[in-house]
Amino acid sequence: MAHGFAPFGADDVAAIARSTRGYLMDWDGCCAIENTLSPVAARFLKANHDCVAIVSNNSTQTPQDFLEILSTAGIDMQAEQIILAGMEAIYTAGKYVGSQVMVMGDPHMRGIAHNAGLQLTQEEADIIVLLRDTRFTYRRLERAVNSLRQGARLIVANPDLTHPGRNGHVKPETGALLAALKACIDPDAAEIEIIGKPGPHLFLKGCKALGLSPSQVVMLGDNPATDLAGAKALGMKAILTSTDTPEIFEILLRERSA
Ligand SMILES: [Mg+2]
Repeated sequence: MAHGFAPFGADDVAAIARSTRGYLMDWDGCCAIENTLSPVAARFLKANHDCVAIVSNNSTQTPQDFLEILSTAGIDMQAEQIILAGMEAIYTAGKYVGSQVMVMGDPHMRGIAHNAGLQLTQEEADIIVLLRDTRFTYRRLERAVNSLRQGARLIVANPDLTHPGRNGHVKPETGALLAALKACIDPDAAEIEIIGKPGPHLFLKGCKALGLSPSQVVMLGDNPATDLAGAKALGMKAILTSTDTPEIFEILLRERSA
């Protein structure tokens, strides 16, 4: 298939667009590259702002950060429509009341965790929250693996190894840091909870935000292993859609306005 969105052809995409009640959308590589929206994705979001939820494995930003990008592009969405793996990992850690939590992530996200009421520590932790930590250091790795070897629980925002950057480059992702942690522990003995796609959590929260069931929405994303596999496991339709395949958005937009 020239456009590469197996298993659907253009007619199938059009039929799906006519029958769906809403969309879940991936962000990196699908809507945006390094937080710059593709023009056609921006048009799509604008046309569907009331029936779209963003479900992203992003773990360096907040829904508010996304809303700023969207509103700059003239897209009116609510914070509830932005479901991000990093934020969800922080909320998940918050369920273990009284725990000492080490957040391996950007200072911005550690501040969010602190404001969410987590008791943060840099030393011996009961829970490690692993985000895309762009200041990952040897020292931080050493502290984390020694807490894990003492029985700390590991909550991981997402398993992705990379996501697309500009000019065909990649950005190392949380999963790459997870691989470093796992190299220093017995991964079979550790309690590891992965929050992001392809797991069900973000998809289900996205559906809830739209007030729709999985069978009533379509997932759009650029990663077959996370976006498509995760959606299909919940009985959703899913279409491979990337910033390199504007024709998919064009078909969906055409059917919307038809
Ligand atoms: Mg993506």
